[in-house]
Amino acid sequence: MAINIEAMRAKLNASKTGNKGQTNNTKWRPTQGDQTIRILPTADGDPFKEFHFHYNVGKNPGIMCPKRNHGEDCPICDFASKLWKQGVDNDNATLKQEAKKLFVRKRYYSPIIVRGKETEGVKVWSYGKTAYETLLGYVLDPDYGDVTDPETGTDMVLNYDVPGTPGSFPKTTLKPRRRPSVLCDEAVADCNELITSIPDIGGLFDKKSTEDVQALLDDFLSSDDSSEKKSNETTKYSKNDSGIDAAFDKFMKNE
Ligand SMILES: [Zn+2]
Repeated sequence: MAINIEAMRAKLNASKTGNKGQTNNTKWRPTQGDQTIRILPTADGDPFKEFHFHYNVGKNPGIMCPKRNHGEDCPICDFASKLWKQGVDNDNATLKQEAKKLFVRKRYYSPIIVRGKETEGVKVWSYGKTAYETLLGYVLDPDYGDVTDPETGTDMVLNYDVPGTPGSFPKTTLKPRRRPSVLCDEAVADCNELITSIPDIGGLFDKKSTEDVQALLDDFLSSDDSSEKKSNETTKYSKNDSGIDAAFDKFMKNE
């Protein structure tokens, strides 16, 4: 029997990334249309977690901001502010726009179960500011209150609409069910087991050190991706000019 190359690739990947293969199962994305979810209560009393990421740094997925998440220095935040200031000083809209793309963004995360798929266990749902504020609004509305309470909480109908037009964002609409309900029907799933199996949400992301982030930023600024589309200049950012100032100067010249 020949070796399964795809399986080997997956194993290597899992090994390199510290074996976080299971997180792919845990993170949940809604599908187009309606789905019913139940947000689970967390031990610390706050099931709506906030994390800060940088996007648009090359092909990297969201990069955890060391500053906003852990109080350490963040080269991307520094770079983006410098870019922004330069844009303001020179009244340069392009620079301001580039800076904006790099500014830190908040994402919100909650442990949930998906109705009809309770046996798949706890998932972590990631959502934006609008959904976050809607959820807090329901919690603070005496008609709903603690929507996560296992006995008297409320399921949410989540409508996810992905517009077909380019450049438009998916829209998430949340509507609580009219009646409260128990979290688990014991015939379907073990309620205590579900609650105790809620993962540490912060642990789902790669924590990046200041040095890690610097390396990702250097890479991004030296890549064809960031420089070529901004100018015809063919010289590449030299690896010898390390540090944010050199990168910044280079970036500016490319404008
Ligand atoms: Zn940052």
